[in-house]
Amino acid sequence: MSSKLLVSDFDGTMTRNEFYRLAIEQLLPSDCPDFWQDYREGKLTHFEALDRYFRSIRASDQQILGLLKQMELEPRLSASVDALADAGWKVVIASAGCDWYIDRLLDQAGVEIEVHANPGEFAPTTGLKMRLPIDSPYFSHEFGIDKAGVVRAGLRQGIKVAFAGDGLPDADAAKLVPEELRFARGALASLLADEGLSFRTYGCWAEVAENLLAG
Ligand SMILES: [Mg+2]
Repeated sequence: MSSKLLVSDFDGTMTRNEFYRLAIEQLLPSDCPDFWQDYREGKLTHFEALDRYFRSIRASDQQILGLLKQMELEPRLSASVDALADAGWKVVIASAGCDWYIDRLLDQAGVEIEVHANPGEFAPTTGLKMRLPIDSPYFSHEFGIDKAGVVRAGLRQGIKVAFAGDGLPDADAAKLVPEELRFARGALASLLADEGLSFRTYGCWAEVAENLLAG
């Protein structure tokens, strides 16, 4: 029975590299529009911008599987999740990305974790098509998944909730948890530091687990 909850981002947090960044660098046509610019200008939601990039991917099955490898999932994930479970910590993934690659990487690593992400399917001729998770209790029009909602659900149960992330879409969720249970690196760490908020940083996801296990 889990009495504590670790909500974790996936891309750049459980993995070294982010799917969208690798895909933009390697698998998009050179004339692909700048959807992030449209997002910054408020013309697209975060979900729509990501989905347009993902649908622009043209790659063979072999190429896309090669890309997943380059994401470098935490090699100690399975052992870390098991050790956390033994100590009463349930791990849940909350991602604004796509379950298509998250599920594949977790399967390959033999790890079973609850995943809240955007559903999607990949095909070489149509790219990675995402759908909004409208049936999810954590549905967000902007990101697909409301990460802060996942954290709030844990807090409402009155249990200890930790959060680990690395990006700006993680900010609202990270701010909800106590500072000793708030793990950040990358853009999330910069944002929290700019706002004068304390957090713990980590080099790899296994360190988040080690920190929690050390109490
Ligand atoms: Mg991330």
